[in-house]
Amino acid sequence: MTSQQIRQQFLDFFESKEHLIVPSAPIVLKDDPTLMFSNSGMTQFKDYFLGYKTPKSPRISDTQKCLRVSGKHNDLDDVGRDTYHHTMFEMLGNWSFGDYFKKEAISWAWELLTEVYGIPKENIYVTIFEGDASENLERDQEAYNFWKEHIDESRIINGNKKDNFWEMGDSGPCGPCSEIHVDLRTAEEKAQISGLDLVNNDHPQVVEIWNLVFMEFNRKADGSLERLPAQHVDTGMGFERLCMALQGKSSNYDTDVFTPLIAKVEALSGKKYTGILEDEKDIAIRVVVDHIRGVSFAIADGQLPSNGGAGYVIRRILRRAISYSYRFLGMKEPFLYQLVEVLNNQMGGFFPEIRKQRTLVSEVIKEEENSFLRTIETGLVRLDNIINETLKKGQKDLPGEQVFELYDTFGFPADLSRIIAEEKQLTVDEQGFEAEMAKQKQRSKKDSAAKVYDWVVLEERPETFVGYDQMAAETYITRYRKIE
Ligand code: ATP
Ligand code: MG
Ligand code: MG
Ligand code: MG
Repeated sequence: MTSQQIRQQFLDFFESKEHLIVPSAPIVLKDDPTLMFSNSGMTQFKDYFLGYKTPKSPRISDTQKCLRVSGKHNDLDDVGRDTYHHTMFEMLGNWSFGDYFKKEAISWAWELLTEVYGIPKENIYVTIFEGDASENLERDQEAYNFWKEHIDESRIINGNKKDNFWEMGDSGPCGPCSEIHVDLRTAEEKAQISGLDLVNNDHPQVVEIWNLVFMEFNRKADGSLERLPAQHVDTGMGFERLCMALQGKSSNYDTDVFTPLIAKVEALSGKKYTGILEDEKDIAIRVVVDHIRGVSFAIADGQLPSNGGAGYVIRRILRRAISYSYRFLGMKEPFLYQLVEVLNNQMGGFFPEIRKQRTLVSEVIKEEENSFLRTIETGLVRLDNIINETLKKGQKDLPGEQVFELYDTFGFPADLSRIIAEEKQLTVDEQGFEAEMAKQKQRSKKDSAAKVYDWVVLEERPETFVGYDQMAAETYITRYRKIE
């Protein structure tokens, strides 16, 4: 089954259960002060859960472009290093807004996975929320009872608040959830280790694919929970992980979502992808084919790379890809922009924005590549000076403060400094570096701490949309007010 077919089957299934199919919302959020990017399918439906707006249909289904690179859900550091966390991914979802609840959500998920997609029942595990005394939350016995109708009790596992109480951000709708995990190990691997602890232990072959969230609460800005006016269902299934499970692969990167992009990187770099987890070249290729998606979709949705806010996040992702390919693929000239056409061939049919904007996206990326490659070149000169100074003093450690400044002010990757230092038999004063990093984190924490708002709609977005850039941060504040 191709990824296109897998996506369509999901939507067809929920259409047959009377869901209205809607398009993905933009990946970039422009009118939500609590969040920069869609980090889950429910982001665009927040107002429905809170009762501020009425949906077109009480049942909705779609695939949502998500980006998890900042805030509460930030997977950036894992991307490339594992085989199933991406910056941008599609989240397939079905929603009930005050309509069906746990029973239907559970039995339809089971029906779709085992009957439509044909995943063997004995490869599925599910988790339920074990409760949390500190917040007076009970164990989700109801979900347990519904699961019991489908799956052996030994395969229903308790999960804690971190895994089984889903929250979009620091404030907003939330609730207990049930996650569905698929065991993709071969019989041989299963014989070696068994046991359910694999599920919540991040075993790369025992993968969480779907999360069914039972929305019952709203987390207020002061940290307290209040009950929502109605009960809702919010589910999210990782599309690329589902493709891995259904295409019999052991890595998302081996599915047809990524193979055309990998083939193009191989052709442009002359390096072969071998799928090894710790191999630096393979990590770099995974980083590149992942990041190009996140960056391209963000630009297509109106977020240009820039020096602040969401634009800076996008610039950092792109720079991460450039720096990995510079270091480990030997790419010293712009090339990432050429991947946009491959992405367009693959995704442009389902996501027309990428088709429409592909020329702009490609030009912006090329421009960024050019300028960051220049930064790397000038950074190398600065680093050389630091190295010479250090050698002159007869020391072994490059001052952490200076390496941090190179990274923070000049955008020169710290890892690159480390590698080059090593080549000269020097090291970086990591303690000094970490101390500067901690100071910087403290500063940005202070900045973002001021930005937790309760979500209250005061005014609709104006009919005549003036474009993203004109909508300054202050505009949000007049529209969404903070409640003390
Ligand atoms: P994980 O525990 O693997 O990080 P999660 O519990 O953070 O996933 P949810 O917030 O429950 O993820 O999101 C719903 C689904 O979206 C997950 O079950 C998973 O299939 C998928 N998903 C989550 N994060 C990513 C990601 N970074 N890349 C690809 N798919 C993801
Ligand atoms: Mg996660
Ligand atoms: Mg999880
Ligand atoms: Mg989850």
